[in-house]
Amino acid sequence: MAYSYDDQNIFARILRGEIPNRTVLETEHSLAFEDIAPQAPVHVLVIPKGKYVTYDHFAQAATEAEIVDFTRAVRAVCEKLGLEPGAEGTGYRLISNSGGHGMQEVPHLHVHILAGRPLGRMVMPV
Ligand code: 5GP
Repeated sequence: MAYSYDDQNIFARILRGEIPNRTVLETEHSLAFEDIAPQAPVHVLVIPKGKYVTYDHFAQAATEAEIVDFTRAVRAVCEKLGLEPGAEGTGYRLISNSGGHGMQEVPHLHVHILAGRPLGRMVMPV
């Protein structure tokens, strides 16, 4: 399928420096920053700098360098914030909402890293 990227989405504007963000870390191909409306004590968004709408779009179209960088950026956030299950942290949850049923609000790929308290059920019953 063809993916259509909206250059005016809020994360594109953050990447262009038009809107401020609280950066957690930045790599060559990725940016991690605090969510503006945190749903847990730790709520970080990790995005690729490239123009990808969803995770499946990214997996289809990104370069291997971008995919490795993004994956390792998630790991670097976990390390920086001490979230790894085990001696230091007590774990975290990764979420990537995609499309309508996924309730995606911002059409630029992002993963949410949520942590800092027990997070409850994975999906709320409807
Ligand atoms: P989605 O529902 O698309 O998975 O999540 C979008 C997330 O982006 C939401 O958790 C929302 O709080 C966050 N968000 C929306 N606008 C901004 C913004 O301008 N700055 C930051 N840091 N986060 C934002």
